[in-house]
Amino acid sequence: MMAPMPSELAGRSILLVDDDRANVAHLRGELAAEEYRFLEAYDGAAALSAVRDSSPDLVLMDVEMPGLGGIQVCRILKSSQPQFGFVPVILMTARGTQGKVEGLELGADDYLVKPIDAAELRARVKSMLRLKASNDGLQAANRKLAELNARLEELSVTDALTGLHNRGFFDRRFEYEFNRARRYRSSLALLMMDIDHFKKLNDAHGHQFGDLVLQGVAKALQACLRDVDTIARYGGEEIVAILPETPQAEVAGVAERLRLAVESAEFLDQGGRVPATISIGAALYPNRVAQSRADLLKLADDALYRAKEGGRNRVRFYEE
Ligand code: GH3
Ligand code: MG
Ligand code: MG
Ligand code: MG
Repeated sequence: MMAPMPSELAGRSILLVDDDRANVAHLRGELAAEEYRFLEAYDGAAALSAVRDSSPDLVLMDVEMPGLGGIQVCRILKSSQPQFGFVPVILMTARGTQGKVEGLELGADDYLVKPIDAAELRARVKSMLRLKASNDGLQAANRKLAELNARLEELSVTDALTGLHNRGFFDRRFEYEFNRARRYRSSLALLMMDIDHFKKLNDAHGHQFGDLVLQGVAKALQACLRDVDTIARYGGEEIVAILPETPQAEVAGVAERLRLAVESAEFLDQGGRVPATISIGAALYPNRVAQSRADLLKLADDALYRAKEGGRNRVRFYEE
């Protein structure tokens, strides 16, 4: 004789709930050939604990039990899915009782009428376990999809080289922060930063080393800022930061810290330490001139230009 095929449902767990232990033993016997795993509970409260603790794949439950009855347990399981997860419930009820209709209306997935026909029992159990397996698969796929979407979302706003936010993210965030500052008359600082003589650094040490410096600069700058600040790669070797709700008196201090963080960062190649510095142009909002985001960007850019003109490795405010 051929060995029986291992069932795709072997090892699935079934919680048997009946106040009559002889019925539980009988059910086990009828399902013994299928290689399921069994859990047992003899009242409704114990059934709820078992579902919570052991997450069975199926609950096969008597309707008529003293205390918490099968229909009540079913109602609790179905109305608290976040807590219990999805678990199919088959209710067992005596012939001629109202229970079966009521049970299905309250969300039981199937029912069996006592005395239970063995073939029908096996068929309904199998079908509910398949339902659970397909639901598990669906849930796993959904979780994976959600993770992938979150990752994609993150990638779409991240600059690949530096790990900072990208230009697109900056544009949207700048619009949001600018509008917020205008509406609530709060202060906003925009810092435009640019690595000094980066072309020379590339030429002298190679583009790859230049990339490492750019990454290091980004990291050093990011470490100086708060969570509410936005720092993004604006383009090439230009980095931009938005500092919302920063008292004007503090902005100069922050900018100076940023400048210093880059100046004191260690970039090493075979020949030893390679110095890197940035120039920073800062513009504060509100101010007398800027009516729009474009105005504010222009002021920061002009200030950056003057920081370069003034000898680089320094901070300039548009007002000076
Ligand atoms: P300045 O002090 O006036 O800013 O001089 P600079 O050389 O930094 O300015 P310039 O605009 O002349 O050159 C910018 C250089 O930055 C040229 C470009 O090759 C380099 N650069 C831009 N993006 C990257 C990058 O992703 N990696 C590397 N390694 N270099 C980059
Ligand atoms: Mg009973
Ligand atoms: Mg530049
Ligand atoms: Mg530069």
